Amino acid sequence: MEIAAVAVLGLLWGSFTNVLIARVPAGENWVSDGSRCPRCGAPIRWYDNVPVLSFAILRGRCRACREPISWRYPIVEVAVASLWVLVFLQWGWSVTALLLAYLAVVSVALVAIDLDVRRLPFALVLPSYGVVAVLLLVATVMGEGATWWMPLAGLGALGGFYAAVWFVYPAGMGFGDVVTAGLLGLVAGHLGWGAVAVAAIAGPLIGGVFVIGGLLAGQLGRKSAVPYGPALIAGAWLGLLAGGAISDAYLGMLGVV
Ligand SMILES: [Zn+2]
Repeated sequence: MEIAAVAVLGLLWGSFTNVLIARVPAGENWVSDGSRCPRCGAPIRWYDNVPVLSFAILRGRCRACREPISWRYPIVEVAVASLWVLVFLQWGWSVTALLLAYLAVVSVALVAIDLDVRRLPFALVLPSYGVVAVLLLVATVMGEGATWWMPLAGLGALGGFYAAVWFVYPAGMGFGDVVTAGLLGLVAGHLGWGAVAVAAIAGPLIGGVFVIGGLLAGQLGRKSAVPYGPALIAGAWLGLLAGGAISDAYLGMLGVV
């Protein structure tokens, strides 16, 4: 029952995430007014804006002009809801869960925006440092997380790693990737070294697999610009959700613990 409630809330926040994805890169105010059809400008009624359900009922088309609605909308809604459920299953009602729920919205928005316009807007990443810092502070006061300095160590580790890559090979990634890595590192640090280590290793692995797959499938040329944000963020979430378990299993295999 609680999980169903979290899933529904996640879908609603996923709907808000779609607003961020549409408006942040354009520099538009995301709190101003209701959504409109990008083609005919018809206002989208509340009953046509129910996550996933409306998309299914309208069979993916605008009610007024029948313009196809992008599959991105329901995918984003389901992605945020899925992350929220996974976070809730592991952290329940806690400040840490709230922190991860916030990060889920920002993460899904950043992945979609990077795929769309090939950048990770500071307008979304930089204010998130403030929100995350406040939530980390409250979590630490509530006795959640390891130590107060672990988030800073995570920030240094992930942010530092990508800053070094960016410095050596600036064509390889944007500075937005570095700043986003730092944000993800802050939260990973709060969850422990396992989360930081898996986040750091999984990002480049996922990116590499994606690029090699794209080259083999002939979808990418050797000079194609590939947005790195999605791999960075997917790797970080693997670290956040399963980093502890993965690193324990790995260390156990080595006979360290
Ligand atoms: Zn329309």
